[in-house]
Amino acid sequence: MNQNTHLSDLVRGTRVFLLDMDGTVYLGDRLIGDMKHTLASLRDAGKKIVYCTNNSSRTAAEYEQKLARLGIWSEEDLVYTSGMATAEYLRLAYPGKKVYLVGTDALRREFASYGVELCEKGADVCVLAYDTTLTFAKLCAINEYIVRGAPYIATHPDDVCPAQGVYPPDVGSFISLLKTSSGRAPDVICGKPYKVMGERLCARLGVPAAQVTMAGDRPHTDIRFGNNNGFSTLLVLSGETDAQKAASLPESDRPTLILPSLNEVVSVL
Ligand SMILES: [Mg+2]
Repeated sequence: MNQNTHLSDLVRGTRVFLLDMDGTVYLGDRLIGDMKHTLASLRDAGKKIVYCTNNSSRTAAEYEQKLARLGIWSEEDLVYTSGMATAEYLRLAYPGKKVYLVGTDALRREFASYGVELCEKGADVCVLAYDTTLTFAKLCAINEYIVRGAPYIATHPDDVCPAQGVYPPDVGSFISLLKTSSGRAPDVICGKPYKVMGERLCARLGVPAAQVTMAGDRPHTDIRFGNNNGFSTLLVLSGETDAQKAASLPESDRPTLILPSLNEVVSVL
């Protein structure tokens, strides 16, 4: 079978496309190729589009605004963040428990909308998210919960955030800091490449893993996430991975197919 037959089979068998954003759909504030047409064609073919991000400092509504500004948001689509996956996981694994959250006000509102009860003192569970309002007092508070043995959840594992110039520290860097101070690593990490985000999303959409395809530009997060969850995977070369790097990936990060960009799917619709 040639690559186009494989792609055609993959697209036909997919009901839900999980799309990484930066490097897959856009680069910064610029859409990749005719992405507007590509996404409209996928919707017309009956595919559900889910924008999937590890960034837990912004809410789904904030991402929807960005996607609308770029002209690619449709009401049928869904934005799914590692923060949302963590809120759904807490509801499932720790129902009715009080949570101490290191996170932004936006994420606090999002957790509240999922019915997760937040508190400062006397929490049962502690959660580390990407907090652009982090303070020393918050670090000390979560460190104390971790040392005292509370269940410890992190939204995602990325060490740094994509940015212009020098990359700022992300949750993974704070996981390392807290490992040094407390001796513990998180009990569960929810975001890509781990399974929780994929499991919660399949449960939310009522779709089996075999009918989901993950498309992204980062092998060790996007593709490994798809492989860990039993999804089909598309590695796109429109972001941080080039053809040379794509040809020598470890088995855990090897995609079902490699495409120059997501726009290639239009050829088989
Ligand atoms: Mg990306």
